[in-house]
Amino acid sequence: MSLQGHRARKRFGQNFLQDSHVIQRIVNALKPKAGDRIVEIGPGLGALTAPLIEAAGKIEVVEIDRDLVERLQRQFSGEVLQIHCGDALKFDFRALAGESGKLRLIGNLPYNISTPLLFHLMAQLDCIADIHCMLQKEVIERMAAQPGEKNYGRLSIMLQYHCRVTKLFNVGPGAFNPPPKVESAVARLVPHKTPPVQINDEALFARLVNQAFTQRRKTLRNALKTYLSAEQMAAAGVNPSARPETLSLQDFANLSNRCPPTQETPY
Ligand code: SAM
Repeated sequence: MSLQGHRARKRFGQNFLQDSHVIQRIVNALKPKAGDRIVEIGPGLGALTAPLIEAAGKIEVVEIDRDLVERLQRQFSGEVLQIHCGDALKFDFRALAGESGKLRLIGNLPYNISTPLLFHLMAQLDCIADIHCMLQKEVIERMAAQPGEKNYGRLSIMLQYHCRVTKLFNVGPGAFNPPPKVESAVARLVPHKTPPVQINDEALFARLVNQAFTQRRKTLRNALKTYLSAEQMAAAGVNPSARPETLSLQDFANLSNRCPPTQETPY
């Protein structure tokens, strides 16, 4: 697919899908049905939008680039495509969902805002049925990684607390125009119905996990000493000499639940 005269904007992470096989594979992974409330983030030139409309009847999109919004308005009727021109990082998906059922999100997401966007979505999961997203392969591997794996870290733990994360398949740079410098991959995120672990204070848990991985090479005893003593770590069932990348979600939950309630945390 040519860019139809559009100049790809780097600042909006614009790499447009042009490989019809990959486009179909992503749509098949979503399994859209008539009546689904599908919201595509960053529709661009409509590579995924058109087959999604074909399968679901109508969809909604959130696009930041006004030029692309104008093109989409010309390309699709308002009956089948509702366009929200704005920044997905600030978008209120909960207000969009309203009372009428959960949203199914899909997007070949702008890679330059992937982590803040994922955290923005995690804060609104009560209105989301599932998320299918394409991102830099390395980010998808971090999202899905298990303890002890190379890419395991803060992103793995925070996302897996909220969702079941499944890496689906890789996509090479040649599937895009212009081709990105990195490999990409597609993942499915399904919010847990009940949390997989019990966490007494989610904000404290998030700060503790963040702190543990900014000090990745240190033992827990050193990395988390402002939160817990070595004795408190041991009482939580965690070896203070272990390194953060070996701990499970349950271990981090146990540590954060063991933090003294009056604990002054650094930020
Ligand atoms: N879905 C199209 C495709 O697969 O060909 C385009 C994908 S391109 C990687 C990312 C899209 O997200 C672009 O259309 C870009 O303008 C849009 N975008 C970038 N930042 C955005 C933001 N903060 N909010 C909404 N859309 C954004």
